[in-house]
Amino acid sequence: AKEELRGSYRFFEPEMDLQLRARRQLQMDMRDALKRDEFCLYYQPQAETLTGVISGFEALVRWEHPKRGLISPSDFVPEAEENGFIVELGEFVLRTACKEAASWAKPLAISVNLSPVQFQHGDLVETVRQVLRETGLDPERLELEITESVLIDDISRALDILKQLKGLGVLVAMDDFGTGYSSLAYLQAFPFDRIKIDRSFIAALHENKHSEAIIRAIVGLGRGLDVPVTAEGVETQAQQAFLAELDCAEIQGYLIGKPQPIGLLAPHLGGDEKK
Ligand code: C2E
Ligand code: CA
Ligand code: CA
Ligand code: CA
Repeated sequence: AKEELRGSYRFFEPEMDLQLRARRQLQMDMRDALKRDEFCLYYQPQAETLTGVISGFEALVRWEHPKRGLISPSDFVPEAEENGFIVELGEFVLRTACKEAASWAKPLAISVNLSPVQFQHGDLVETVRQVLRETGLDPERLELEITESVLIDDISRALDILKQLKGLGVLVAMDDFGTGYSSLAYLQAFPFDRIKIDRSFIAALHENKHSEAIIRAIVGLGRGLDVPVTAEGVETQAQQAFLAELDCAEIQGYLIGKPQPIGLLAPHLGGDEKK
């Protein structure tokens, strides 16, 4: 059996080598792409559940590849996290989002995703402080979205950084709530300013009896903690109606709007400026 194993290992070796080479190539490509300004942000609206009035936007990174076209973050963010490039990319996203939001006619909220890797490397607090100073954005308009994976590795260090971030006056949201292992313990450990229900629960809403109970429980949890809840991935009016009935504060999803480049946001941003 040992011989077979060794044999099969040898068989896969060239393929692994190829994979490694492809990954190194992607890593170099990403660094060049940032220099060539190929990364850009799309913005997805977030709205009050009852009225549909837009309260802010989430910045979502895209790679406008000259040959491959628009590449979505699921195709490069994991790789960028593995090779550390996400620290640089994350800083670009933060700076770009804050700069653009600071120029909007309405002082709407801007959400930016942070990777766990940004907590482990670089000086995240100093970066955020500097970007706020540089762009002049009101810190209360900036909401940093983290997943519980930020808290898994070194919780005391992560909590310390989160507290320093809050000290800058920015808000912190727990993203993808309900998909992890100890989300409740983290809610106890840190005063989050928002809970975002993962879109898998919303997607299952009218097909899976349990998801209704889970969403109800999360919204109730938010009410008990006095933390506003946002439901992600809302695509239908039926989902919106259910969430409105629960008094879930905000919704985000294709029903309100898909992520769009900055140029297309004008109608949301300057709507009643003319009056
Ligand atoms: P996320 O933070 O949970 O972002 C929400 C994702 O759900 C976005 O995918 C958005 O386009 C998608 N979405 C929103 N509404 C709907 C809907 O109604 N239906 C469906 N089917 N999908 C919807 P996107 O832009 O592809 O981003 C995927 C993930 O990549 C994000 O999930 C986030 O984890 C990560 N990501 C995106 N931008 C950044 C970034 O700048 N930094 C970091 N660290 N991660 C990012
Ligand atoms: Ca997010
Ligand atoms: Ca999310
Ligand atoms: Ca996600």
